[in-house]
Amino acid sequence: MKYPGQPMTPEFDLIAKYFTRPVTRAVLGVGDDCALIRVVDGCELAISTDTLVSGTHFFPDADAFKLGHKALAVNLSDLAAMGAAPRYVTLALTLPAVDDAWLAAFSRGFFKLADETGIELIGGDTTRGPLSMTLTVFGEVPAGKALRRDGARAGDDIWVSGSLGGAALALKHLQGALTLEPVFLERALERLNLPVPRNALGGALVAVAHSAIDISDGLVADLGHICERSRLAAVVEWPSVPLSPALLPVGPVFRLPCALAGGDDYELCFTASENERMAIDVIAATTGVALTRIGKMQAGDSQVTVRDKDGVPMNIPVAGFDQFLA
Ligand code: ADP
Ligand code: MG
Repeated sequence: MKYPGQPMTPEFDLIAKYFTRPVTRAVLGVGDDCALIRVVDGCELAISTDTLVSGTHFFPDADAFKLGHKALAVNLSDLAAMGAAPRYVTLALTLPAVDDAWLAAFSRGFFKLADETGIELIGGDTTRGPLSMTLTVFGEVPAGKALRRDGARAGDDIWVSGSLGGAALALKHLQGALTLEPVFLERALERLNLPVPRNALGGALVAVAHSAIDISDGLVADLGHICERSRLAAVVEWPSVPLSPALLPVGPVFRLPCALAGGDDYELCFTASENERMAIDVIAATTGVALTRIGKMQAGDSQVTVRDKDGVPMNIPVAGFDQFLA
């Protein structure tokens, strides 16, 4: 819908030029009133939507290529957390103006990751307004096998992929809270701007894990969601938590909040029976993603306790990432 007085965007040109590519899996992609997809027998569709708003989720002058990557990555991460294979995505873009250089870079970043993960763009919407993007992703998971937050069991090991805290540390640098050495800054910024969604890992975990979540708001907050939904407590051993290398030179004042309460890492936290330890080590080897055991689920009051090297419960900084950059 368009209001009188607002210049008509060359919407069709823009869609044709930057967002129309032949589909291989979908029945019908961009160009009609709806896309058409075939629902696979024996599978459920996992569906998730995430919005990124300029000034809230990214800096207004953010690099367009990295934004295209990140907008898709954070949505793919939700599919990974359910163990669903990425299949289709829609993209609703709100743009302040038609800026060809921006659109070219954004779509390159978007399609590079789409091609790497095998997800197909099948539709969307394009409107004028303050810069934001809303993506909806569709994934397939064998019926009844999705990794839900409510599936954890008492006695489960708690695992985390990769390393934590790099993205939050980069954000602290950008906000001027500390100054990182260039070699550490580069790695931390990559975690913030070009997160790698753990889709191959998520798919493999369907066979072994009881529950999973992606770490978008910080380990304690996100593991807390598994606790709430599974009605269990979690005990995490701080010395076991895998820290981003960028955190090593900084003091505990930054290390603790970044690793435990820092957002934007997009690693997976999952729980599994002790009997699956060998199988999980094999998954780490085959996916090339480090997997670290950090604690246990137990009966209790839906709380996350983090213990120091002496087993003493620690004071955890802020619970959860507050979404606002400013
Ligand atoms: P309608 O008026 O039916 O909403 P649009 O002009 O918004 O149609 O879109 C025309 C076609 O282009 C549709 O197939 C829609 O899904 C697709 N489309 C629009 N914007 C985007 C976008 N940003 N990315 C991908 N596909 C898009
Ligand atoms: Mg439309």
